[in-house]
Amino acid sequence: MKECIFCKILKGEMKSEEIYETEDVLSFLDINPKAPGHALVIPKEHGEKLTDLDDEIVGKILIATKKIQKMIGKALNPDGFTIGLNEGEIAGQAVPHVHVNIIPRFENDGGSSIHSVVNNPPSEEVSEIATKIRKAK
Ligand code: AMP
Ligand code: ZN
Repeated sequence: MKECIFCKILKGEMKSEEIYETEDVLSFLDINPKAPGHALVIPKEHGEKLTDLDDEIVGKILIATKKIQKMIGKALNPDGFTIGLNEGEIAGQAVPHVHVNIIPRFENDGGSSIHSVVNNPPSEEVSEIATKIRKAK
């Protein structure tokens, strides 16, 4: 199996501020937080991309994300959340192990929306792109 920092955390070889754990999922605070309570949710099974994981695990990651969101909400009382994952080097994925970022958002935190990560509108019509994607099902 491919070795990575998050697998080391899972094996107990590296310390982390763990906040939630199930049989399949672990959550800990980001070591370089973008906001108070910035948490990561990872599957215990190594997978680089969401598409590398079984549907069942993907579902469990999202359920855990919701639980952790509630915990952070209760503990830190944020005004909102940005939740997402970077996949692939081009998207800024630094650790090759699936991890959902849960970033609590606060009034006047200076941040912006997830739509600000790229501005690359298509030259084709949206309907043409939708047709291509539907065909790929
Ligand atoms: P990205 O792949 O772009 O989501 O970036 C990886 C994220 O993992 C960054 O936000 C890092 O701060 C975080 N990170 C890297 N190493 C650790 C670690 N040992 N413990 C907690 N978070 C980490
Ligand atoms: Zn790993």
